[in-house]
Amino acid sequence: MTLIGCHHCDAVAKEPWVPDGGSAICRRCGATLFRRHRKTVEVTLALAVAAWILLILANAYPLLIFEIQGQASESTLASGVSALWRQGEYAVSAIVFLTTMLAPACEVLLLLFVLAPLHFRWRNPGGVIAFRWVERVRPWSMMEVFLIGIMVALVKLSEMADIRPGLALWAFLLLIPTLAGALALLDPEIVWRRIEETK
Ligand SMILES: [Zn+2]
Repeated sequence: MTLIGCHHCDAVAKEPWVPDGGSAICRRCGATLFRRHRKTVEVTLALAVAAWILLILANAYPLLIFEIQGQASESTLASGVSALWRQGEYAVSAIVFLTTMLAPACEVLLLLFVLAPLHFRWRNPGGVIAFRWVERVRPWSMMEVFLIGIMVALVKLSEMADIRPGLALWAFLLLIPTLAGALALLDPEIVWRRIEETK
């Protein structure tokens, strides 16, 4: 049994069972306690597909383009990680790899792996374990921290060289709200319910 509190009048009640598309209303003051969005699986799946495309762009294209004395060079996420490793910055290199490449990719793949079978009503024996991992991987995905670092470097280095943002930087800028939105709109209760139904 789970207890929930009303944000308006502080009344405490047992969390009621609410059908998909319905909402729970406070018995005392009539405020909405929570909603069960009927389309949560479809909306999050669409955002997860968009996030996957952005993730590929963010990894495949240059993040920054430098131009020093007429010579242009490009830096991708992977080349940055390997350059850090070669300079002996093993910990920084590993953290960047984990938080900006591995964790977001795992997060998006797990979402696709859980949500696509639910939408198409396929049997998915791994759905339960995969959905538990969605929550576990989440704290490790920290692309925004990395992006702030890139922005600071961009401003500092712009005095020394001609630096332009590459396609990957724009992809990152879009990827962060897309993935955050997918996770915010995901209603775990409905996902667990639909997993039970398709078992
Ligand atoms: Zn209330």
